[in-house]
Parts: sequence; C-alpha cells; structure tokens
Amino acid sequence: MSEFRSSRRDLAKGLAFLGLAASAPAAMAQGASAPAAIDAAVRAAHAKYRGLNEGKNADYIPALAKVPSNYFGIALTTPQGQTASVGDIEPKFSIQSICKVFTMALVMQESGDRVIEESVGVDATGQVFNSINAVEQYRGKEMNPFVNPGAIATMGNVKGASADEVWKKVLGIHSDFAGRQLDIDQEVYKSESDTNQRNRAISMLMSAYERFKGDPAQAVDLYTRACSIAVNAKDLGVMAATLANGGKNPITRKQVIENRHVAGILAVMATAGMYDDSGKWLFHTGLPAKSGVGGGLIAVSPGKFGIGTFSPPLDAAGNSVRGQRAITEISNALDGNPYSVRPV
Ligand code: GLN
Repeated sequence: MSEFRSSRRDLAKGLAFLGLAASAPAAMAQGASAPAAIDAAVRAAHAKYRGLNEGKNADYIPALAKVPSNYFGIALTTPQGQTASVGDIEPKFSIQSICKVFTMALVMQESGDRVIEESVGVDATGQVFNSINAVEQYRGKEMNPFVNPGAIATMGNVKGASADEVWKKVLGIHSDFAGRQLDIDQEVYKSESDTNQRNRAISMLMSAYERFKGDPAQAVDLYTRACSIAVNAKDLGVMAATLANGGKNPITRKQVIENRHVAGILAVMATAGMYDDSGKWLFHTGLPAKSGVGGGLIAVSPGKFGIGTFSPPLDAAGNSVRGQRAITEISNALDGNPYSVRPV
C-alpha cells in the first residue's frame, strides 16, 4: 500500500429549519419521514450532483476499485428520528475511516476523554492520513484518532483480554450507533489485510514510540476489521444523527455514549475529519464530518441533523466528491452551519 494518492484533483437559505423541527411532534414514530422541505433539500442536492463525474474510486485497496462509481445515496436523520433519503441508500460498502469516530467514542466511553487527548492527541497533522513522516516528526505524539497512526493507537487502547473481546466491543458500538447489528465485508477485509503493509509499519512505529501497550499486529488487524464493517448510507445517516443528538440514537432511543463525550468527538471531526482538506471543508460548511475511502461521508449539524452519503469517487485528499457537494448544498438549504448566527 502506497501513501494515499488520487490521480485527479477537484475541487442558500430560505428554510427555518429549527422552526420546522420544533413543530414536529415530540416523539416521532421510528424512522418517520422528514418534513417536506428537508426532503426537498435532500432530493435537490441528489439531482444536482448525480451527473457529476469527478474524482476516482480508491484503488490502493483492490476491492474498493471494483465498487460501481455511479452509486450515489444520501440519508439525513434528525434528532426527532425523522429521515429523508434518496438514491442508492441500500447498497452496502465498507465504512473505512469513518470507523475511527466510533472507536474513538468507545475509548472515551470506557477510559475517559483524557486517554485520547494524552495518549493519541487531538491535533491535526496537516499531512495525508497514512503519513509516516507525521509519526516521525512528533515521535508518535500529537496525532489524532482520525489519521491512521492515531486510529491504530486508539484501537490499541480499547480494553480487552483477547482480540475477540476487543472486537465484540468495537462492532458493538458501531451497531449501537447504527441501530442495527452490523458485520464485516469479508472481501474488503481480506483485500486490505493482504495489502496493508504500510499500516503494519505505522503500527510498529507507534508501538516503538510506546503509544499503546498492546500488540501492534493485533491493533492493526482490529483496525483493518473495523474499516471493513459494511454499512449503507441510511446507517451512516443514523450514526451521524446519534452524534447530532448528543450520543442518543434517534431511532432506537438508546443513549450509546454519555453526552459529555460528544463535543470532543465533534471537535476532532471538525479539525481532522476531512484530512488535509479539513480547514477548507469547515470554512465552507462549519460541519464536523468524517470521510472514508470507501466513498462514505458523515456530517453532523449539532442538534439539527446527521447526514450520511455514499459515492465512491474521491478527490485527491481522499474525500467523496459528490458527498461533499451534496452535504454542503443540503446544509446551506437547512441552515446547518453551527457558526452561522444572525445578530440579535
Ligand atoms: N482502511 C483505510 C486505510 O487504513 C482507511 C483510510 C480511509 O478511509 N481514509 O488506509
């Protein structure tokens, strides 16, 4: 596996969303459909970008290159459990780096936020997600859970007497966020395991810098399994909405992680969720987000909505091209930017 590269580089208002949300019944039926204006915003973004043919599937993990590039699905869920979705929302794909958010959540939940801050770091590296230079530069410190060295170290911090015990917890928290039992895409897992020499090197280096106690080979294998978890756009929408709803799944109503961990997770999503394009993304949307090289993308408008998109072609930074455009459009239409305030 080489350092991530892509061959091509690419790169409104009118709806009182809060008013709409407030007028919705307090306890929505499970998976109730969203108000017409939300539905319209989601459909309009899909129609606008369906034909956009920029970017390229990731191919450094061979199985990802085979996924049809024209898949495009969007699913939005509100804290009230209302959903609006369009396009390819059922096909499953590997969650890839989006798993880093939920593994971070697991470690915070079981060991507290300081373990992440002190043993992994919460600062953007400004470098590509599988950069070895970044590890060397800081001797494994001052990473964050969303670049591969930090993600592998985060996995190495999940408590468990055996790999199976850790894995049960990792899969369990992903399933709780999604509100249904998830599982691994075995083909992707095998494909990535056969080609992840670079991540294995990173895990060894992080272990050499004493960034986690356990076995580096086990940590990288568990990380690879987590990246291979199969989800669809609807799952991602619910996972994002669970963060938008303070850690409580809006469909199952389960409090998946304690509320106090959510702000820190969203902060790291804001600063490092889109890799070295995180600043640009935040500048345009203000939304904490996380991308995966499988083509998935989640974004969170705290208290308002969570969105999940699926579209495999990526830009040079490794972020879904159609996903970014669609979420930007939808969030603008729904007044989703948390930094956008009107003067009193
Ligand atoms: N499994 C991938 C890797 O480790 C995840 C990367 C990503 O989605 N950005 O390289």
